[in-house]
Amino acid sequence: MNANGQPSGVTHKGKVLIIYTGGTFGMVYDTSDNLLKPYDFQNIVDYFPEIKKLNLEIRFVSLSKIIDSSNIELENWQELGEIIEKNYHDYDGFIIIHGTDTMAYSASALSFMLTNLAKPVIFTGAQLPVSELRSDARDNFITALEIASSKTEGTATVQEVCIYFNNFLLRGNRAKKVESAHFDAFESPNYPPLAQSGINIDYFYNNLVIRPKGEFKVLYGFEARVAVVKLYPGINEIYVKHILQLPHLKGLILETFGSGNAPSFSWFTSIIKNAIDNGVVVYNVSQCYKGHVNQNRYETGRHLLEVGVVSGDNITTEAAITKMMHLLANESDLMKIKTLLAQNIKGELG
Ligand code: ASP
Repeated sequence: MNANGQPSGVTHKGKVLIIYTGGTFGMVYDTSDNLLKPYDFQNIVDYFPEIKKLNLEIRFVSLSKIIDSSNIELENWQELGEIIEKNYHDYDGFIIIHGTDTMAYSASALSFMLTNLAKPVIFTGAQLPVSELRSDARDNFITALEIASSKTEGTATVQEVCIYFNNFLLRGNRAKKVESAHFDAFESPNYPPLAQSGINIDYFYNNLVIRPKGEFKVLYGFEARVAVVKLYPGINEIYVKHILQLPHLKGLILETFGSGNAPSFSWFTSIIKNAIDNGVVVYNVSQCYKGHVNQNRYETGRHLLEVGVVSGDNITTEAAITKMMHLLANESDLMKIKTLLAQNIKGELG
C-alpha cells in the first residue's frame, strides 16, 4: 500500500468502449461562418496512433446525432444508457466523450440511471479541439483510457460515473464546470478528487465508491416537468407564483442563499406551502459553492423546513436537477421521493 491506501497490483488491460457524443473535443471550424461545430468522426482513435501501445481492445461508437452539449436532451441520456446496457458485459470500462458545457449534468444523470454499476464510466472532453496543436484532448483522452481500463487486484479500480479532466478524476455527480477559458474546467467543491494524474495515476482509494452490488440495470425514466428558481434580492411574487403554477409541475429546485435561506415574507412562504400541499416536491440547494444547507439555523431557513421543503445538504444544482428528474420518474410514492432526495443515494451529497 502507498500513502493513499493504494494497493500494489494496478494494471491496465482489457476492453474499452468509447462513446462519442460531440463537444469541442471533436469540433472543427466551419469556414463559412467561422464557428465551431460538431464533427462526425468515423473513428476518433485514428487521431491517437499512440494508444496502440496500450494493451487495450477499443471500440468506438457515436450517438445517433453528434451534438454540442448545450443541445443535450433527456433522450440523449437514455441513448447513452442503452449503449452501456447493451455492451455492459462485453467491456471493462466506458469512456463518454462529451462537451464540457453540460458534462456535469450528464455525468450526474448517468450516475442515477446506472444501477449497481461495477465498472468505470468516464466522461471526458476538451477545451480545444483535437485538431489544434495545443489541444488538451490528447492528455484527457489517453489518461481516461487508462482509468477506464484500470484494475486493482483483478477488479475495476473505479466503479462509478466520473469526469476525468485536466489531471483530476472527479465524481460525476459532485462536479461543476467552473472555467470556460482555461484547461481546468471542472471542480468538485464538496468532495475530494478520486484520482490525480502526474507521473503516475494516484487513486485515492478512500474516496472511491465501492458498494455491495446487485445485478446491473438501467432506470431510464427522467421527469422533465421540474423547474429551478434562483433567489435574488427583489424577486417578486408574480414571478414565483407563475413558475409554481405551471401546469403539471412536479418538482422545484430552490437555489437559496447561504445555508439554505430564503425570504421569510408571508407571500413567499405561502406560495411555497401551497405548491407543496398540491404535490410539488421542493428541494433546497444553496447558491454557495461550498458548504451545506441547514434549514434549522436561521428563521429564514426554518420557515422552509416547516412547510416541507427538502434539504439538499451540499448537493450541486446539476446533481439536484437530475436526481429529482430521476426519482420523480422512477418512484411513485411522494414520501419515498422526499426521503431519497434528503439521503445520499449515489455519493452525491453528505
Ligand atoms: N459548447 C461545447 C459543448 O459543450 C463546449 C465544450 O465541449 O467544451 O459541446
